[in-house]
Formats: sequence, C-alpha cells, structure tokens
Amino acid sequence: MIFDIQRFSTHDGPGIRTVVFFKGCPLACPWCENPESQAFERELLYKPQHCINCAACLDPSLGGAMRRGPEGAIAVQRGVEPLPALAEVCPSLALRLAGEEASPEAILARVLRDRAFYEKSGGGLTFSGGEPLAQGQALLDLARLAKAAGLNTAMETCLALPRESVSPLLDLVDHWLVDLKHTDKETFRDVAKGDLDQILRNIETLAKAGVDLTLRVPVIPGFNDSEAAMGAILSFAAALPAPADGRPRRLDLLPYHDLALGKYSALGRDYPYPPGLRLEAGRIEKLAELGRASGLAVTIGG
Ligand code: SF4
Repeated sequence: MIFDIQRFSTHDGPGIRTVVFFKGCPLACPWCENPESQAFERELLYKPQHCINCAACLDPSLGGAMRRGPEGAIAVQRGVEPLPALAEVCPSLALRLAGEEASPEAILARVLRDRAFYEKSGGGLTFSGGEPLAQGQALLDLARLAKAAGLNTAMETCLALPRESVSPLLDLVDHWLVDLKHTDKETFRDVAKGDLDQILRNIETLAKAGVDLTLRVPVIPGFNDSEAAMGAILSFAAALPAPADGRPRRLDLLPYHDLALGKYSALGRDYPYPPGLRLEAGRIEKLAELGRASGLAVTIGG
C-alpha cells in the first residue's frame, strides 16, 4: 500500500531519486508532514473550496464514501472505505485518494523509467513513508528486485519496529536516513506513541553494522528544541560507533514548519499546533553549533 511515487527528488539520499512512499506508520507524531501516510488504510483528502458541486462522486456505484450534508454541501463520509474509482471521478481535483495497492514488480517498473537520471547523478530509489519497514514482505520483495536491477537504494525510516524487521534489509539498502526524535522514553511515548528503547537499539545496531547512516532530527518547538533535550540527542548520536569511512557522523536538523496544515484539514483532522508557531529565531543555528561541537557533521534542512 503506497500513497505516492515522487520522481526527481534531490532531498532523499544522494543524486536524483524516485521516492516510493509506503502508507501506514506505527508512530503518531503530531507534527507529521505527511498525515495521509499515518493510517494503513486508503483515505480521502477533500478540499471543499475546489468542489463545483457536480455530484459525480455521489454515484451509488462509488460506494458511499461521499455524501451530501444537511445543508446540501458535499462532504466525506468518514469511516466508509473509499473505492479506488473515486480517484478518477472528480473534475475539479477537490478529491484525492491516498492509498494505492501495487505489486513490487509494478512499482519497480515505474521507478526504472528514470534509470538514466540515476546513472548520471548517482541517485536511485528511496523507500519512504509512512514507515516502509511496517510492510515487511512487500518492502523486502521490492528491495530485492531493485538490487537485482542494479539500483542504488536508500531508506527513510523511524525504525519503530522489532530488529527482525530491520536485519533482512541490511544488505539491500545503500543509505539509511533514520529519524532520531528524542532520548527520553516517557516523553516520546506520550507524544509519538512509540517504544523509544526499540528505536535506539535499532540505531545502535545499524551503526555497529557499519552501514551508511545519516540521523535526521525534526526540531519541534516545546518537544525537543531545548538545549537539554537536543543536547541528549546529540550526545547519543556522537557516542555511536564511528562511521566506517572515518568521517564524522552526519546529522540533519529539520526545522518545524506547518506546510502540511492544509492536508490535515483535507483529511478532516485538527492540526495539533497553534497557527504561526515557529522555532525561536536563531535557535536552529545554535543547536547546529552544539552538534558540531560534539563532533557531528550537522546540516540544517538535510
Ligand atoms: S466530484 Fe468533485 S467537484 Fe464533483 S461534487 Fe464531488 S467533490 Fe465536488
């Protein structure tokens, strides 16, 4: 189950890449910039401001996921599974379906269309999400096909899964881009609803295995942007076994933004942060300096 395939990406590993976004994630980070990635089921995004009230989506053959509200306005019937045909029916792009079942072979065929760009730029295929590792066998099948086709591969992951989900990918993934969001397990459990011990153990396993590993830290106001919280994150990163190439450990600081606000509203969900919330001016640069002082190769923005 994927929700997008994005071509010509330059921020998800080296070179020009195609990013395959897997749908579904075991965590529930409230700042998630892809809220349509979190649920494992297909979902409808609806922008009423684009609706021209043509009623095409109300056709009974489309399963009843859209309805007319009490005042005549078109609305989503949440809780009714949207049928794939709904993706095609809206003439004004008010409706978007997130979630498409595709075989690993079909996904690879789409990825291979841009092979010439990968070869020229040192790019390839990136698995992202959601959480790709949560779709174990399908991911493994796609990764094996990609390697058999000679593609460079990268993995964007939160690692919130048992170690057995990670180990089979060690030989199939060339670059690991791993989220590191906090080091306090109670805070992490309260906010992101996950088991931090499992994540930190997986990060240590990857570092010990000597894979190409970049840590990515979303910097979220009030969650991990204090010097105490970020200091603990940076200390954890700096204490990992050194990269096999002898260079400093790479760590990207990703500043909080609210660009996904419209997607939350299109999914019928409240955005959990106040409007206009920003990191304090100069904060990200200060945290980057702290990281560099700890011996890390810090990038702002990744
Ligand atoms: S198909 Fe699109 S434009 Fe037509 S009523 Fe439904 S949401 Fe509105």
